[in-house]
Amino acid sequence: MAKYISVTWAEGITEHEHTLAVSALEQVLRWLNLRHPAAFEDPPLHIHLFGNWVIPPLAPDKPYWGTQWYINRSYDEEVERVITPVFLELVRQEPWQKAEPHYDIALLEQDLTDFPAPLARLRPAHYTLSSSFPGMSAILSVHRIRMLPEGQRDLALMRLVRHCLGHALGAVDFTRKDDVARLGLELHCSNRCVMRHADDENELVELARDESELPWDFCPTCTRTLQSVMVRESYTWN
Ligand SMILES: [Zn+2]
Ligand SMILES: [Zn+2]
Repeated sequence: MAKYISVTWAEGITEHEHTLAVSALEQVLRWLNLRHPAAFEDPPLHIHLFGNWVIPPLAPDKPYWGTQWYINRSYDEEVERVITPVFLELVRQEPWQKAEPHYDIALLEQDLTDFPAPLARLRPAHYTLSSSFPGMSAILSVHRIRMLPEGQRDLALMRLVRHCLGHALGAVDFTRKDDVARLGLELHCSNRCVMRHADDENELVELARDESELPWDFCPTCTRTLQSVMVRESYTWN
């Protein structure tokens, strides 16, 4: 069975936001599929939309009852942010990830921090736009994007989604030595590329505008990483 990309979103995500996010994911996959031999008939990666899901028999107190459970378990009331290392670990440990390994993308409206809770409390101004467990999962938030002028939001969200998909699929490759910038668990690209890191929402818009001049916004090295994932996934299930 082909590996899938699970896409979930929090309750407050608008239809416009999740529609846009999904179309950004589809665009990247379509581009990769078109350049992958045999992927046209049997694309190695599919998107599964789970949205804001709930499993009624488990709700409201059994673990993993729904999208909101992950948020409740990783939200820190004091810093008023989701602690992303906690969230990503819940995803890594989830029963469905163990039963059937897949990629995970989660779209939240809560603000995020990639610091563990004690450090986040010491640095209350620190936030992050997105965070990932490279090669498996990524979460992103519209919290800061919604603070941008309306004309910039769609561009920023689509850029962040593409960046997150790149991380979830394993870009930037950890064995790579050139044109890289390390940030915590994540490795970023320093080429003119969607895998460059944006510290805040304004930088995100700047980078998105710069990359919009490119016909394809993943640099050749990051593109090779994504293409090797496509090849690996085709062999895994064939
Ligand atoms: Zn990143
Ligand atoms: Zn790159």
